[in-house]
Amino acid sequence: MDALTPSPATFRNRIYDSVLDTVGATPLVRLPRISAEDGLKADLLMKLEFFNPAGSVKDRIALAMVRAAEAAGTIRPGHSVIIEPTSGNTGIGLAFVGAALGYRVIVTMPEGASIERRRMMRLMGAELVLTPSAQGMGGAIAKAEEIAAKTPGGWIAKQFDNPANPDIHAATTAEEIWADTAGEVDIIIGGMGTGGTMTGIARALKPRKAGLKVLGIEPAESAILHGDDPGPHGIQGIGPGFKPRVLELDLLDGVETATERDAIATARRAARTEGLAIGISSGACLAVGLRLAALPENTGKRIVCITPSFAERYLSTALFQGLE
Ligand code: PMP
Repeated sequence: MDALTPSPATFRNRIYDSVLDTVGATPLVRLPRISAEDGLKADLLMKLEFFNPAGSVKDRIALAMVRAAEAAGTIRPGHSVIIEPTSGNTGIGLAFVGAALGYRVIVTMPEGASIERRRMMRLMGAELVLTPSAQGMGGAIAKAEEIAAKTPGGWIAKQFDNPANPDIHAATTAEEIWADTAGEVDIIIGGMGTGGTMTGIARALKPRKAGLKVLGIEPAESAILHGDDPGPHGIQGIGPGFKPRVLELDLLDGVETATERDAIATARRAARTEGLAIGISSGACLAVGLRLAALPENTGKRIVCITPSFAERYLSTALFQGLE
């Protein structure tokens, strides 16, 4: 492409009736400079979920959980109140979907949750109820249940238990990878919070291709799926410290680990070297991806790495430390 040739994205010419219709269909992108620097043996692609309209992979499940509950007749706009205990991207996703569809949204979260998240949820009209940090997510879950019990039309989305979470990844995230690669994909890796992303991908694609490997990632500091105790870590969005109900481990080919330090160093490297300003769990995925793509046994293979969110969502975290 010469300097004056428009990028392929210029002529998409797309008009949508609602921002909700722009969820999904995220791009797969190579890392040419890092691949050359590291002499990678495999073709490494990042699936950029921060192209979703509220900025993360969680837009998919927020919309899917709400649509599934509407289809079941459980909730309707103007009547039901969407409630969820979450300190993260799911709260932003639900605030986004709630605003677009006309639902009241209440998010409960530990008071330590980062200021940029709290402000994004409030920006889109969600109400926040803060619970004591010392009680952790347990306090936020109990508070959500208490609010739901006394709120007429109250409905808790329950991302860790809700089958609409893995189902939407099987129906969309997985199918997009399959279509964009024409099935030429050998390894798919991604961090696990609820585990919905990797469970859905594995369920949809593993039966389609013998030898396809789907690998989850958990924080090395809280490697409970490796038998360690849960521990504090800074890779927001993954490693909740328990095995969620929606995570079907037996569908996966394994679980890798990444340290917070590696995740942050790798995210910074992607930003500096490729202009890919990715979030911390994306850095964890890329760290594992670079490791796998350098192995001689993976020569000529194609690896897809899930990139859940954009760096800016972590402005107040260690990702930006020293960059003031
Ligand atoms: N990274 C980030 C930043 C997230 O918000 C999430 C979702 N909690 C994940 C990774 C993991 O996604 P999943 O819940 O589908 O396992």
